[in-house]
Amino acid sequence: MDVAVVGAGACGVMTALRASRDPDLVVGVFEKSLREGCNAEISSGSLAAGGTRFQRAAGIDDSPERHAADILAASGDLAQADVVQALCAAAPAYVEWIADELGYPVEIGTDLPRAGMSVPRLHSDAGRLGGRRLMRHLREALGTRSNVALVDEAPAIGLVDGGVVVEQNGAPLEVRAATVVLALDGFAANPALMKEHCSDLGDPFYGGVTTSTGDALPWLVDLGAELRNLGSCLRSGLVVVGHGTRVSPSLPFLGTVLLDLDGRRFVDEQAHGYSGLAAVLQQLPGQRAAMVWDAEAHEAVRETEIMRETVRGGGFQTYADRTALAAALGADPDLEPLPGRRRLAAPYHLAWVTHGVLATQGGVVVDPLGRVLRTDGSVIPGLRAGGGTAVGLAGPDSKGYVSGNGLLSAFGMGWIIGNDLAGASA
Ligand SMILES: Cc1cc2nc3c(=O)[nH]c(=O)nc-3n(C[C@H](O)[C@H](O)[C@H](O)COP(=O)(O)OP(=O)(O)OC[C@H]3O[C@@H](n4cnc5c(N)ncnc54)[C@H](O)[C@@H]3O)c2cc1C
Repeated sequence: MDVAVVGAGACGVMTALRASRDPDLVVGVFEKSLREGCNAEISSGSLAAGGTRFQRAAGIDDSPERHAADILAASGDLAQADVVQALCAAAPAYVEWIADELGYPVEIGTDLPRAGMSVPRLHSDAGRLGGRRLMRHLREALGTRSNVALVDEAPAIGLVDGGVVVEQNGAPLEVRAATVVLALDGFAANPALMKEHCSDLGDPFYGGVTTSTGDALPWLVDLGAELRNLGSCLRSGLVVVGHGTRVSPSLPFLGTVLLDLDGRRFVDEQAHGYSGLAAVLQQLPGQRAAMVWDAEAHEAVRETEIMRETVRGGGFQTYADRTALAAALGADPDLEPLPGRRRLAAPYHLAWVTHGVLATQGGVVVDPLGRVLRTDGSVIPGLRAGGGTAVGLAGPDSKGYVSGNGLLSAFGMGWIIGNDLAGASA
């Protein structure tokens, strides 16, 4: 075959969708387990893109250049600048394509403020239903392509010269392909690799899928590929203790306060992205904080996939007044707003939040076309990588992660690789 894609998540499906526009290409997508699922499916499905027609219609002045500058300012990882710029240049094109060509109901999330984003640029589906709906839509589109075969329960188990080895019905099968695209995400579900590379994160809650076991890392090491930023992760400081759901990342921008076990404020709630907030919570006694918000804030976020899950799971309680809240906390809560912020009004919602890891951000170094590079900077022929398998956009430290970076890496590189493979004929 022409293109063997490993992994049917965000990067793999986008690669196959774009490459298969060339009718002369035969594309195979080999997936470990659709039943176990991919991170894109359990994600919020928020797509960061700068300079879309959705933003223009909402009067938001943005561009791929501004988007890239925001990401690089947060990560400080200038070695990634060319890849970041290429991904940000691709983002408006694929967000509009998903809407206009594939008929997905995209809108700009003016209600989705995030740290590290100089203007609103997260795009979401109209019902805020999250990544499962998006991935179903994209896979359905892939199912209409006659030159694509998606083979489930066929994990890749190694690379060979000019192809990949997959396992089918327990037996290895060598698949010959002119190009192999590694789109199998990172290694956050692999405890040994997490201990080796991310032990400073402590013992966080894990909020990703079971399939992210870093299968490609040893293959890439054997090929002499360069790996970077392996200690960096997409973390979350918004994980609800005892539930594993999360509260909305918009809440800190709606007057929410965070309190320690003594009811004291310890952080400017808007100063950190949710990945950076995780490190702050990790340092607290009990590695947890009380998050308090009110009805006005709740109204703004309740119709989102994250909050629906937390509501369903009983992840927060409501207290009629400050006295009841203090009794629940076991301490008098400091609800004094920071200058310029709104004051919460009773009744109060309370969730205990802790830190978790959602996905890794380190991986193999690629060039702006997704070609895998060796440590000497040379290209490994016939091998591409994107999404969580490649180096992410957070830089060497998890606090450099900006919301939307994950799917930008995945859909963006899938778009770039697929377009490049399809070439001018598509
Ligand atoms: C809870 C949560 C919320 C998130 N929210 C957002 C968000 O709103 N916006 C955002 O930008 N990012 C978000 N992210 C991050 C984002 O989901 C990931 O960065 C993105 O899905 C990575 O894409 P990918 O294609 O690399 O991997 P995935 O989407 O995880 O797909 C990888 C696929 O490879 C398969 N696979 C693994 N090993 C093998 C193998 N050996 N052989 C064959 N197949 C294999 C897996 O089964 C999976 O289907 C979130 C992540 C989590 C966990």
